[in-house]
Amino acid sequence: LKRIVIIGAGQGGFQAAASLRQEGFAGEIVLIGDEPELPYQRPPLSKTYMKTGDATILPLRPESFYDAQGITLRMGSRVEAIDRAVQRVMVDDEPVAYDHLILATGTRNLRPPLPGIEHCLDLRSLSDAKALRAALSGASSVGVIGGGFIGLEFAAVARAAGLEVSVAEAAPRLMARAVSAQMSERFAEKHRALGTMLRLADPVAEISAKGLTLASGKSIACDFALLSAGVVPNTELAAEAGLSIENGIKVDTQLLTEDPAISALGDCASFPDPFSGRLVRLESVQAATDHARHIAKRLIKGAQAPYRAVPWFWSDQADWKLQIAGLAAPEDRAEELPDGTMLRLDGERVTAVETVNNAKVHMRSRKAMGQGTPLMLEDFAALAG
Ligand code: FAD
Repeated sequence: LKRIVIIGAGQGGFQAAASLRQEGFAGEIVLIGDEPELPYQRPPLSKTYMKTGDATILPLRPESFYDAQGITLRMGSRVEAIDRAVQRVMVDDEPVAYDHLILATGTRNLRPPLPGIEHCLDLRSLSDAKALRAALSGASSVGVIGGGFIGLEFAAVARAAGLEVSVAEAAPRLMARAVSAQMSERFAEKHRALGTMLRLADPVAEISAKGLTLASGKSIACDFALLSAGVVPNTELAAEAGLSIENGIKVDTQLLTEDPAISALGDCASFPDPFSGRLVRLESVQAATDHARHIAKRLIKGAQAPYRAVPWFWSDQADWKLQIAGLAAPEDRAEELPDGTMLRLDGERVTAVETVNNAKVHMRSRKAMGQGTPLMLEDFAALAG
């Protein structure tokens, strides 16, 4: 391989470039991103950055890193098309050839076609976060559409800044896709105790400059609204190039698309979960980073064992750090341990471990799940003790 091109210079695209060098790749690496800033981390956008406005904590590496590593960084550049037949991409009307292509295009905010949706702000990029901070500073109330991780992290920051905060969630519980019903309830109590108003099972029907109107007819007055109701994967480039899409760019256990010259990773990729075999698409720093490392190793060292890194995730809401090790299916049952740890179970197999402010159990769970054999309920007591 002479030249590897990476589309998307976020968490995973950056990591792929860095890992290719770490694995000893001596050829050309071109990292193309359509945002103007140096590659940066998104998690602080709804946490420390939202609180402090300190953007110096965001870049994944300083500019000198890319020079020193010989990584050609093309920021503010958008890839418009992939021509698989001749192995090249079009960047701002200029063709760039590749020997291998890595798709790391991430996601964008879902914008449902609701009346007045144009009044809502987003929280996905640094430029979104800047606009949101500006709105925060002049307001006394905010409506948050969507009770997932990002909406709730933002709600906690806004509440701490003294705003009146209302969260409207269409589902009957918070973070419903990701955690057990018991954990959702614990967080609902926490946010209520902070003084946030929660409206569950009541989708937003309309937005105006004055506030939100819910399906039930209730209205929420607010100075501005954040839309945090999920994302859509950026799969259009891949789809137009004829690659299969199944809730994301479909890849195999080596994170390869059907085209042996194209890999995909992170938020935009659907990959087979090693335990259940079902295709999953994860929106986490862990997936983007571990996918990138796996792809870099395969490209440089050749065939290797199927991808099977243990998924993990965190979310900071006020003084609570939620951590999840593993990956539960929605139907997995939940069992609470005396120390508050919540286990998700498929039969006797522990599929995920949810903890709050308990880094020790989280780290031990991740380690135990990474041993190569399934973690069973009967083994868990020894681990937590
Ligand atoms: P991204 O980092 O999104 O990068 C994709 C990049 O590709 C973007 O810059 C995009 O503009 C660019 N791009 C797309 N199409 C093109 C094109 N055609 N040409 C050029 N460039 C293109 N995860 C956690 O694990 N824990 C957290 O606490 C957490 N908090 C978060 C808080 C916020 C506010 C947000 C937004 C995300 C958070 N995440 C968190 C999720 C995490 O940031 C993502 O999972 C991760 O960034 C995914 O990496 P990625 O490389 O797949 O995509």
